[in-house]
Amino acid sequence: MFQKILIANRGEIACRVIDTARRLGVRTVAVFSDADRAARHVAMADEAVHIGGPAPKDSYLRGDAIIRAALDTGAQAIHPGYGFLSENPDFVDAVTAAGLVFIGPSASAIRKMGLKDAAKVLMAEAGVPVVPGYHGSDQDPAHLEAEATQIGYPVLIKAVAGGGGKGMRLVERPGDFAAALQSAQGEAATAFGNPAVLIEKYIQRPRHIEVQVFGDGTDAVHLFERDCSLQRRHQKVIEEAPAPGMTPEMRQAMGDAAVRAAEAIGYSGAGTIEFIVDGSRGLRPDGFWFMEMNTRLQVEHPVTEAITGVDLVEWQLRVASGEPLPARQEELSIRGHAFEARLYAEDVPAGFLPATGRLAHLHFPEGARIETGVRQGDTISPWYDPMIAKVVTCGPTRAIALRGLEAALVDTEVAGSVTNLDFLIALTRHAGFQAGDVDTGLIGRDLDALVAASEPQPAARALAVIGLAGLADPSVKGGMTLWQPLRRTIHWQDGHAVLEVLGPGAARVTLDDGPHEVRWQGDRWWVDGSLCRHRIAAHDGGISVFGAGSLHLAPLDPLDRRGDAGAGAALTLSPMPGLVKSVDVSAGQAVKAGDRLAVLEAMKMEHSLTAARDGVVAEVLAAAGDQVEAGAPLIRLEEQDA
Ligand code: ADP
Ligand code: ADP
Ligand code: MG
Repeated sequence: MFQKILIANRGEIACRVIDTARRLGVRTVAVFSDADRAARHVAMADEAVHIGGPAPKDSYLRGDAIIRAALDTGAQAIHPGYGFLSENPDFVDAVTAAGLVFIGPSASAIRKMGLKDAAKVLMAEAGVPVVPGYHGSDQDPAHLEAEATQIGYPVLIKAVAGGGGKGMRLVERPGDFAAALQSAQGEAATAFGNPAVLIEKYIQRPRHIEVQVFGDGTDAVHLFERDCSLQRRHQKVIEEAPAPGMTPEMRQAMGDAAVRAAEAIGYSGAGTIEFIVDGSRGLRPDGFWFMEMNTRLQVEHPVTEAITGVDLVEWQLRVASGEPLPARQEELSIRGHAFEARLYAEDVPAGFLPATGRLAHLHFPEGARIETGVRQGDTISPWYDPMIAKVVTCGPTRAIALRGLEAALVDTEVAGSVTNLDFLIALTRHAGFQAGDVDTGLIGRDLDALVAASEPQPAARALAVIGLAGLADPSVKGGMTLWQPLRRTIHWQDGHAVLEVLGPGAARVTLDDGPHEVRWQGDRWWVDGSLCRHRIAAHDGGISVFGAGSLHLAPLDPLDRRGDAGAGAALTLSPMPGLVKSVDVSAGQAVKAGDRLAVLEAMKMEHSLTAARDGVVAEVLAAAGDQVEAGAPLIRLEEQDA
């Protein structure tokens, strides 16, 4: 076994590899960019080496700097994780030439699987079923179109050098082919520097089922399948193992094909053979086709670990250090069922747009395996994949494991960035998913309902107001202090509500949809008589209510609140430095509490500034287009007679 390895990656996968290395007594060296100086993987490793600027091309893709770091620290081997340099055969050659061990397959095996077209030719030769289609070298548009006609629509155009769903176009009708081809080639040229494409039959009701393989360079075993059909934009969202509805015959056929594929290229280490499966008529041994091989550890490998009891990173280290395959095929078996959900900083309703932010509050539940590269206070930067964590659960049956996933997600708490957490919870409650009726179109078909189901409910809003008013603070016993008025308006950055304290542990919150009665004892909450499973947390970004349909309220700037506390609130101040986008009132105009006075743009977000009370505008002190400082007066209301 190695004494010391370097991990050429960041985030959760770097932390994941360090965990196993430590358990095996192997010392670890992390590498980091300027953006990751204080990152979790740096803190976890025994040593860490700075390798460059925040952009991947200046750091995590700099093979030379990484190899130098390994040599300088006396590391014997390099673990590439996934992404970055993990499937770059030139990097493997350079690692080997430097006298180091690459923890993964040979450069030649990676090259054989690197381009989807060549890989399909090779696999067909090895007797592995491949998706019907054209994967030849003639890239003449007229020729490709003729091939598409021959295959029969719908067809899928794929970049041969593709990955991450880029350079891929579904074409339903012949008339759309030429335009789709042009845009796929353009995207492929930009993203991969290679415009070549292949054409595939588009499989109906497709399921993505992949097989984990592990080789020693000659022989290979498989560790069964994972179903990754829950996808958005061709990217995985929730994965599970085994695949729902899998039959022993089909598992045998897929496992055999995957092992043949790995042995055909002399594969060493962990790899994944991705198959597309026709789910329209149930799972059948003749209904699966090779799509591509990922020659690395896969993001979703933990579900395989959960059902087989194998630590795949341990196997990687053992085989790379010269040990034989740790198990024979007949020693491997499946126990129970496992799920993995990918928790991302992303804006789901905006089309799964990546998001950033400082994680002001972060809490993970016990009872689930959590793979994460961040801690509370860390920042999701725009430089890398916005993954926050992978939440992995297992159980003796699929239903139990799925309920466990739902519970673990409901108990997960993240504030400081928008996330897909509530969307993931809604997915675990989707009837078709619960029934195991999955295909890659499920999320797209039911997107609107899933997004609607992840919206916060009035109970969560009422609790957030209680939190914002400071009543959830355990130091305020019973929620009553002498100086608090019994009835007041609580403002936050884009709204307000009326709060009436009814007595110790009781208040009424009036929201847009009407009044809600909130009662509490310790950290137990009842809204309108129902016990509510939400939790309230205060952090430096405001107040968050967690549980399905989480909610975050940012308070007004302290300067603003001071104005509000007097209830005279004559001045509306800018809560932060920003650009005045619009002023919505003019002098002499009557306004009601909560009316929008102006819109401020700051940190790429728009904030409505609202009237703290009813009144008449005395003076407008800023104009649209003005750049203002925090605390700058924007609108003054006429003084009121007491
Ligand atoms: P998987 O099938 O394991 O999910 P993906 O193809 O989605 O694999 O990629 C795995 C991870 O690697 C993703 O998080 C993605 O952001 C990252 N990744 C993929 N390709 C690249 C690349 N060329 N450079 C950097 N990161 C990449
Ligand atoms: P990438 O390299 O981007 O991961 P893949 O070839 O693995 O590309 O395809 C990504 C996803 O696209 C699959 O998981 C599947 O959802 C869908 N897909 C790929 N090929 C087909 C096909 N022939 N028919 C239907 N869906 C497909
Ligand atoms: Mg793929």
